[in-house]
Amino acid sequence: MIQITVSTAYLNYGFHSHPWPEQMQARGPVEGGMRHTVIIGGGITGLAAAFHLQRTAHSSVAVTLIESSPRLGGKITSKRENGFLIEGGPDSFITREPATIELCRALGLEDELIGTSPAEHSTYVLSRGRLHPFPDGLAPLVKSRLISWPGKLRMAVEPFVPVRCKDADESLASFVRRRMGAEALDKMAAPLLAGIYAADPERLSLQSTFAMLPEMEKKYGSVLRSYLAQKRRRVRSENGTAQRASRSMFMTLRGGLQQFVDTLTLHLAFADIKLNCRVLAVMPIGNHYEVLLHDGSFLRADDIVFATPAYVTAELVQGMDPQLAEHLRRIRYVSTATVSLGFRQGDLNAPLDGYGFVVPQQEGRLITACSWSSTKFAARAPAGYALVRVFLGGDGNENVAEQEEAALVDLARHELCAAMGITARPVVSKAYRWHRGNPQYDVGHLARLAEIEKLAAHHPGLYLAGAAYRGAGVPDCIESGARVAARIAERASVGQQQHCKNNVQECVYG
Ligand SMILES: Cc1cc2nc3c(=O)[nH]c(=O)nc-3n(C[C@H](O)[C@H](O)[C@H](O)COP(=O)(O)OP(=O)(O)OC[C@H]3O[C@@H](n4cnc5c(N)ncnc54)[C@H](O)[C@@H]3O)c2cc1C
Repeated sequence: MIQITVSTAYLNYGFHSHPWPEQMQARGPVEGGMRHTVIIGGGITGLAAAFHLQRTAHSSVAVTLIESSPRLGGKITSKRENGFLIEGGPDSFITREPATIELCRALGLEDELIGTSPAEHSTYVLSRGRLHPFPDGLAPLVKSRLISWPGKLRMAVEPFVPVRCKDADESLASFVRRRMGAEALDKMAAPLLAGIYAADPERLSLQSTFAMLPEMEKKYGSVLRSYLAQKRRRVRSENGTAQRASRSMFMTLRGGLQQFVDTLTLHLAFADIKLNCRVLAVMPIGNHYEVLLHDGSFLRADDIVFATPAYVTAELVQGMDPQLAEHLRRIRYVSTATVSLGFRQGDLNAPLDGYGFVVPQQEGRLITACSWSSTKFAARAPAGYALVRVFLGGDGNENVAEQEEAALVDLARHELCAAMGITARPVVSKAYRWHRGNPQYDVGHLARLAEIEKLAAHHPGLYLAGAAYRGAGVPDCIESGARVAARIAERASVGQQQHCKNNVQECVYG
C-alpha cells in the first residue's frame, strides 16, 4: 500500500473542528479498477473481515489492516508458561453458531479443535459459602439444595404466569423474576447468563442477548412448556436417526485460541498488515475516505471497516459525523480481569470435578466466576498440575478489575481460599486486565443500533463490525467481519463491472 507522509504540523490540525485539508490527499491502490479497503482493528473481527475479503475478492480489493498494538488478536491472547496454557481473554467458543468452526475448517485447523471434557461436566454455584451443582434439568432441580422449596414452587408455577403483551425490550432480570421468581434470578440466571456479558441483569437487554426467551414465552405461553416441547422433539429426532449429537457445546484449539489467530494471520498473504499503527481519524473526501495515522501519514480507502470498540470508533468518526459518534458513545463498556493460577495437584485439597463455578452477587464476594481450566479442556496444565482461572470486575465491580496485576493475583487467591479452601501457593500466576473490555447490551440496545445503522448508511463504504453490536462472542465477531466483507465484495464487483464496461480491453485481457 502506498503511504504519503505529511508534515507533522498536520497533527496539530484540529480535524475534529476544521475541514479536512484538500491538498493533503493520499493515494490508494485504485489502478485497474482495484479498490482499497482499510480495516481498523486487528482483533478477531478485523482478521475475519480481511480473510473473507481475500477469499472472495482478492482480485478486485486490496486490503490494509491497521492495528494499534504490537500484536494481532485483540482480546484473544494465549500464553505458555512452565507447561501451562493460559488464556487472557476468551478460552473457547460456542459451537451452536457455526462461524468459528467453518473458519477453522477453511484454515485446516479442524483436527486441532477440542471439546470440553465430557466426563466431569458439572458447573457449580456458590451459595451460602458452599458449592452446589447447577441443576441442569428438572429432576436435578427438584433435588437441588441450591434453591429453597418456596423458590422451587415459584418456578413450578411458571406455566401459569400470564404472557407479557408488550413487545418492548425488557431486562433479563425483569423477565426471569416475572416468570420464575427472584430466587431463580439470583441463584441461576444472573450469575450464569448475565455473567457471560459481565453485565448487571437489571440492565441487560433480553432482546439483544437471549431473544429466544421472549419467543418461547410468546409461542408456548411458558418457558418450561417450550423447554419440554424441545426436549420431546430432540428425543424423537435422536430415536429417528439413532444418533446423538456428538459435538461439545464449547470448543477451543489444542494450542489455545492464539493458535487460531496465528493460523489466520498466516493465511492473510494478500493483506498489508500494519502493527503499532494507530488510526487517529477518518474523513470522507469526495467518494473515498482518508485515514489519518499516528505518524501524520494517511491512507486513502474506498471502503473502511471499523473493527474497533464503539467508543474508539466514536472518536475516529467524530470529525465526519458527530451525531454518529454520539450514538456510538452510548454503547457502554465495563472493565473486567482474569487471573490464572497454576497449582500442583497434590497441593489442592479440593476436587476440580467440573468446569468451575459461578458466584451470585448476594454472596458478597469479589469474584464473579472461576473456570477449572485444566478439567474443562485437555492440555492446559502439565501432568500432575491443575490450572484455574478467576473472573473479576464487570458492571458494578469495575474498580476490582482495575487493580495492579499483583493485587489481582492476591485477591484471586484470597477468594479461592474463601470459596474452595485452596490455601496452596500457585506455581504460576498471570492476570489480564481488560479496561473497558466488555460492551454492555443495555435495554434498548437494538433501538440504539437501528439509529447507528441509519446514520452510518449516509456514508457509503463505511462499515461497523465487532463485539459492540450484534453479539460479543467470538463466533458473532467472525460472522460480523464476514458480513461486512461480503458487502464490500459485492460493492467491488458492481464497481468492477462498471470499470469493465468502460475499459473492455483492459478487463478481459489485463
Ligand atoms: C475476559 C474476557 C473473556 C471472554 N471470553 C469469551 C469466551 O470464552 N468466548 C467467546 O466467544 N467470547 C469471549 N469474550 C468476548 C470476545 O473475546 C470478544 O468480544 C472478541 O474477542 C472481540 O473481538 P473484536 O475483534 O471485535 O475486538 P477486539 O478484540 O477488542 O479488537 C479490537 C482491536 O482494535 C485495536 N484498536 C483499537 N483502537 C485502534 C486504533 N485507533 N487504531 C488501530 N487499531 C485499534 C485494538 O488494539 C484491538 O486489537 C471474552 C471477552 C473478555 C474481555
